[in-house]
Amino acid sequence: MHSLTKTALSFNGIGRRCVALNRFSETRIICRGLTCTAEHGEHENELYDVIISGGGMVGTAMACSLGLDPNLEGKKILLLEAGNKKVMDKVPDAYSTRVSSISPGSATLLSGVGAWDHIMNMRCKPYQKMQVWDACSDALITFDKENLQDEMAYIVENNIIVAALTKQLENLSDQVRVQYKSKVVKYTWPKSHQVADAIPWVQVTLANGQTLQTKLLIGADGPNSMVRQEAGIPTVKWNYDQSAVVAVLHLSEPTENNVAWQRFLPTGPIAMLPLSDTESSLVWSTSHRHAEELLQLDEESFVDSINTAFWSNENHSELVETAGSLFRTALSVLMPSAGSARQLPPSVAGIGPKSRVMFPLGMGHASEYIRHRVALIGDAAHRVHPLAGQGANLGFGDVACLTQLLSQAAFNGKDLGAMQHLLEYETERQRHNLPMMAAIDLMKRLYSTNAVPMVVLRTFGLQATNTLPAMKAQIMAFASK
Ligand SMILES: Cc1cc2nc3c(=O)[nH]c(=O)nc-3n(C[C@H](O)[C@H](O)[C@H](O)COP(=O)(O)OP(=O)(O)OC[C@H]3O[C@@H](n4cnc5c(N)ncnc54)[C@H](O)[C@@H]3O)c2cc1C
Repeated sequence: MHSLTKTALSFNGIGRRCVALNRFSETRIICRGLTCTAEHGEHENELYDVIISGGGMVGTAMACSLGLDPNLEGKKILLLEAGNKKVMDKVPDAYSTRVSSISPGSATLLSGVGAWDHIMNMRCKPYQKMQVWDACSDALITFDKENLQDEMAYIVENNIIVAALTKQLENLSDQVRVQYKSKVVKYTWPKSHQVADAIPWVQVTLANGQTLQTKLLIGADGPNSMVRQEAGIPTVKWNYDQSAVVAVLHLSEPTENNVAWQRFLPTGPIAMLPLSDTESSLVWSTSHRHAEELLQLDEESFVDSINTAFWSNENHSELVETAGSLFRTALSVLMPSAGSARQLPPSVAGIGPKSRVMFPLGMGHASEYIRHRVALIGDAAHRVHPLAGQGANLGFGDVACLTQLLSQAAFNGKDLGAMQHLLEYETERQRHNLPMMAAIDLMKRLYSTNAVPMVVLRTFGLQATNTLPAMKAQIMAFASK
């Protein structure tokens, strides 16, 4: 299916949600509530108010957030994670290759659940500026503190985020139970209307044979979500023709290193994210074949490839340069003080031992985030290209929104798994997530070509945006949530 059609389909999803909310009726709720039915079986099954399936960054944050909410005190909450408990008694000397750019909005959420101080005490690098530029022209855009109230964002290792949240969960052991090494192998869905002998709750079966029941199941089980698949929730998804190569980079000399750099090459974006004065993190999205080649290179050649990717002008053309320069001159006449000077990225001298890894990239969006007694959060609901560093941030936004609605429902004595507040969650999050996902996908496509007319158009667009502080502030405000 053509990608634009797919995007349009996703947008239709949000319209449909609004209609559903407006014309809220029992019939609709029942239709969305049905997946498959279980007959009454094991009475002895333990019943929870909320089970969260998946203890990655987003699921663990959800568990902390619910565990801390005063209106949910006394509710039985369980987090199930297939993997081991991720504890970190001591921060390892070497940086991990998996890092996330954490927006101020996500930092607020992590602070609210009591994990941000742990993160800051372990390891976290704030940055104040971002420069994005086109490898096919001189066009660039910078975002800096002038467009912002505070730090632009923070680079944090994923395992530090999970370790900080895990530590906080230990403090919440009276409110939240956690089971590690507990892979869910089956979900059995309730009927939304009462049928004799049918269980009214979601039944969760673990690999060890244990069965549990819950009034609300939160699927936080990642991009291949079993919750989403077993609930039969339609998903728009496609694989990009790209993989991301990640690595820890040693810089050739110490710098303040408070800038995030991203250059759009015709084969995909390459980003260098600050970790410390001497180290940065690489996220290089490129064709699968090139990614595999990069992984095979000896260290010196790999480092040369990175420096060339950031510095080389081999994709420049005279025509584009002339058009860009004329446009820049015209802009500087119209807005003499606008724009920002080009800064040069640091050069790379080496990489961390065994730090090169690649990940295939894809996009996915569940057209429904909820069903009767089920809600999806994080990558289980939406997966994006890493070029804007937004995946985990969107997930933390889901956590904040769902917590607030469940808290309100508990305060009002409502059933946590009921459709009313779950529909509100879906509508609110799709309103935020869909425009962000569409913008990221558009950026990916816009920069995946070196066809001259397209390069000229995007050069003009980037240069013009760079001279408009109000527009840049709007973009940053949207990405900071
Ligand atoms: C190269 C790259 C760079 C990125 N950079 C950024 C960035 O800068 N900023 C940003 O915000 N995002 C970034 N992202 C995206 C971010 O990593 C993801 O959005 C985020 O990790 C999703 O978290 P999650 O908890 O939803 O899912 P996951 O991390 O996939 O966690 C799912 C969890 O569920 C568990 N699970 C799965 N199935 C079961 C089951 N059946 N039973 C029990 N447990 C189960 C798994 O063990 C896992 O722990 C990047 C992604 C990539 C690939």
